[in-house]
Amino acid sequence: MRVNQLVYEIEDFSWDNSDLIVNETVFHNANGYIGVRSNFEEGYPEGYDTIRGTYINGFYDIAEMRQAERLYGMVEEKQTMLNVVDTQTIYLDIDGERFNLFEGTTLQSKRWLDMEEGITGRRIVWRSPNGKEVEIIIRRMASFHQLSLFTIEYAVKALNFSGKIEFQSLHQGEVMNYSNSEDPRVATESCRYLIPASSTILEDASYLTSHTTKSDLSVCTGVKHILSKLSKLHTKIEGHNAICNIQTSINQNETIILTKYTVFSDSIRQKDCLAKAVSEMERALSLPLEKLYDYQRIYLKEYWENCLLEIEGDDDLTTSVNYNMYQLIQSVGKDENCNITAKGLSGEGYEGHYFWDTEMYIEPFFNLTEPNITKNLIGFRYKTLDKAKENAKILGHTKGALYPWRTIMGTECSGYFPSGSAGYHINGDIAYSIISYYLTTKDLDFIAEKGAEIIFETARLWIDVGNYYKGSFRINEVTGPDEYTCMVNNNYYTNVSAQFNLKWASKFYYLLKKENKLADVADKIGLMEAEITEFVKASDSMYLPFDEERGINPQDDSFLEKKLWDIENTPKENFPLLLHYHPLFLYRHQVCKQADTVLAHFIFEDAQPLETILNSYEYYEKVTTHDSSLSTCIFSIMASKLGLIEKAYDYFGDSAKLDLFNTHKNTKDGIHTANMGGNYMAIVYGFAGLRIKESGIHFAPIIPIQWKEYRFKINYEDSQIEVEVNKEVSTFTLIKGSPKDIFINGNKHSLKDRITVLDI
Ligand code: BGC
Repeated sequence: MRVNQLVYEIEDFSWDNSDLIVNETVFHNANGYIGVRSNFEEGYPEGYDTIRGTYINGFYDIAEMRQAERLYGMVEEKQTMLNVVDTQTIYLDIDGERFNLFEGTTLQSKRWLDMEEGITGRRIVWRSPNGKEVEIIIRRMASFHQLSLFTIEYAVKALNFSGKIEFQSLHQGEVMNYSNSEDPRVATESCRYLIPASSTILEDASYLTSHTTKSDLSVCTGVKHILSKLSKLHTKIEGHNAICNIQTSINQNETIILTKYTVFSDSIRQKDCLAKAVSEMERALSLPLEKLYDYQRIYLKEYWENCLLEIEGDDDLTTSVNYNMYQLIQSVGKDENCNITAKGLSGEGYEGHYFWDTEMYIEPFFNLTEPNITKNLIGFRYKTLDKAKENAKILGHTKGALYPWRTIMGTECSGYFPSGSAGYHINGDIAYSIISYYLTTKDLDFIAEKGAEIIFETARLWIDVGNYYKGSFRINEVTGPDEYTCMVNNNYYTNVSAQFNLKWASKFYYLLKKENKLADVADKIGLMEAEITEFVKASDSMYLPFDEERGINPQDDSFLEKKLWDIENTPKENFPLLLHYHPLFLYRHQVCKQADTVLAHFIFEDAQPLETILNSYEYYEKVTTHDSSLSTCIFSIMASKLGLIEKAYDYFGDSAKLDLFNTHKNTKDGIHTANMGGNYMAIVYGFAGLRIKESGIHFAPIIPIQWKEYRFKINYEDSQIEVEVNKEVSTFTLIKGSPKDIFINGNKHSLKDRITVLDI
């Protein structure tokens, strides 16, 4: 493992506001339960734009959604992820002068993220206006070992003086969320969501408990300080904030370390939040910090062993790819009370909502590397199935479940239904992810326990939403993945996903029946064989639009009739188009925000001949802006499939760099988790050509000209397989588990130990 590929660092970092706010996201610490943005402990100058946020996955309040016209069934309130506390602030006074990067002289500076250690750091050598020089090293960790724990280790070394230092460290319960009324991708108004409930000091630790205004949830945070040198700590509560003052002396060349522990507990997961926070604090303090760092390293060692992607010949991109995978494990929920938000736990973009991003872009990664995490993610959808059934009723359906377009606790949170609730394909996406989990793991027990019920209820919905017309089954008035084309009939992606959902409802029915695992779920939801017959009929008769003249699948019934958007001559500053053009204007054009039919061709490649797939790729490439971060990764995969290796590499590079290089100009609001999963897919599904189908596991490896070799490991059924591809050969090694039949470039091989094939 090359260490440099697992460390991302910036020397002499800039204090420009626009860089600082992006780096708050880039260097955030999270573990799937909590996330803390990377703000400076000492703060920024007044007037700087900052998002000083700390989040708990799945913890929300209800915000009003004002609809100008109260049409039936419109969403009138939404869940919004909360900024729960601020424990980042630590002021340092050196002989009466406050450390602050915006005054004095910064002699050296560096920020880093170490993805093997699971720690972010900042090192500064600073000279105060009066000439006192200090070296400050601050390390932060959101513990994977103890999910409730966040630590800041603040070390100060006196370089040219002996004197007094004083820390003032804050625990602030009075916090607000971020908002921007100009940008639809973040909340438009900032509200006060948390009401102080109680504050107390127990054994020198401060505990603040707050309640949400509407969702009836509580959160408790505890903060405790430990100083490396025996000194007096004084903690007091003021309002809903706690302040800890520590004064001590420092000698030249001495290092003093302040460790600040923050623990979190919430009422979604705990009955008594304060009691839980107190016990979590005891747990954290029962081990030395070094031991907690060891656990962090051990957790990540195992993680990287399962999923590390090594690319020889392209160090910068490898760091980006690994950065992306690191963010996935930082972001993904570790229990069924939550999922993975579009921005992870790194910012407030999309208000902490869960989208189809999970199923189509992120689960494929976890299926292959940590399938138990996929189980949790599906478990979350199972937990919210009743809410999806209620949602179906609101939208006028008489049966089945319709999952919300965006949500935290299961109800619909999209205010603008044309590119929200109308995205019925989310049902097909969730079904697809369960089928993919099954095809990868063959875990039929989980299907019997949770997956099948979702598949049956989503299949029921398709029967209710669609109708037969001239002998074929059609789905009208929906929105596909491309959000620049809304409310259309027969979106190809939606129809082909529904077809797959219906087909597998029947397959699972008979598979479970054969294995005597059907009765519980069938009885629970009153499923009869006659309904299965209906599913098969609709699936067999599904209308999939095809345009003879162009030899492509039109995105929907009317897409090809519209005016073409002149992408080339659109001023650069007008992208993303959604911020500059009225939705209706966009809808009347042939212009795509993201992969739609091209995505369908990736996941259902056997539904069309290769020629149609190639024609479609070429057609849609010309009309796609990639304004959504979910797009370039899919174009990369398809370019690989079609042998367009240079294009595949370029799209892959765009996707790899998206957050580290802030190419979409909104990383300040959070990372783009779907793209991160998609970026992994661009290698494994794209360059290596992986597909897992009923027929088995398939590879079709190619390698970009810029690379010497790439390697990765995947889990398949009970086995782990390592794939190594270089310019001459591809090697497949069975690392553990039972021998497997694998298809390489269409040829079947039996993998018992190792297979090497010449690249074609
Ligand atoms: C995309 C959606 C996506 C959402 C959250 C939007 O820009 O168009 O497909 O689900 O972002 O990532």
